[in-house]
Amino acid sequence: AILLEQVVKRYGAHRALAGVDLQVRRGERLVICGPSGSGKSTLIRCINALERHDAGRIVVNGIALTNDEGTVQDIRQEVGMVFQHFNLFPHLTALENCMLAPRLNRGLSKAQAEKLAMAHLERVHLADQARKYPARLSGGQQQRVAIARALCMEPRILLFDEPTSALDPEMVKEVLGVIEELAASGVTMICVTHEMGFARRVADRCVFMDRGEIVEEGDAAGFFEAPESERLRHFLAQIL
Ligand code: ATP
Ligand code: MG
Repeated sequence: AILLEQVVKRYGAHRALAGVDLQVRRGERLVICGPSGSGKSTLIRCINALERHDAGRIVVNGIALTNDEGTVQDIRQEVGMVFQHFNLFPHLTALENCMLAPRLNRGLSKAQAEKLAMAHLERVHLADQARKYPARLSGGQQQRVAIARALCMEPRILLFDEPTSALDPEMVKEVLGVIEELAASGVTMICVTHEMGFARRVADRCVFMDRGEIVEEGDAAGFFEAPESERLRHFLAQIL
């Protein structure tokens, strides 16, 4: 479970998060949407301690995020993250990208890490591409490798930050399909996305952010079809 209470994150004078309250239950699948600059990435980066919040409280699976190195290590065991731009290491094959964190952070042997990595590459339907370097893979394949890499830490929480927005349209479906399969596995999931169809199929709850705040939340159907706030109506009118 994830708990945020009055979380504030500042960049200089600008408040990227202006007092966010949010609870995500174990196994819940949450979709976050909102305009550019509304704080979506900042929010999920604070949850896995890629950014440190300035005020308020964040507790992730019972671990309170503080400024100590110990907690950061603990959090990274619990939380896996997938970025918009894949962020694979170009000089490592798909398989080696997946083996890295288990070897460095979980102390697995080479053989153990390889077995684990292959299992997760299979899960994203890429076992046959394991020996290729990222540059030889399509965008959709690279993003699926990035998902497999996150899974190799066997996290109980997965965070996705616009995982399909850098992809060509024909590749969006294969990546969303994999995320949907994961959603059915019971993992706790937060996904920043504007893919409405995906949100309807997968999300237990949707949250709309604007100017560093959560403005509205609800189930996917009500959220998209009967938005309450003017700000969400305006946003939906722009993206639909
Ligand atoms: P997008 O949809 O474009 O990805 P977002 O909702 O993810 O937007 P954030 O990236 O969280 O928005 O940014 C929120 C605000 O914080 C923006 O005004 C942004 O300019 C600012 N910001 C984010 N990261 C930094 C940084 N490292 N330094 C300074 N300002 C930042
Ligand atoms: Mg962002």
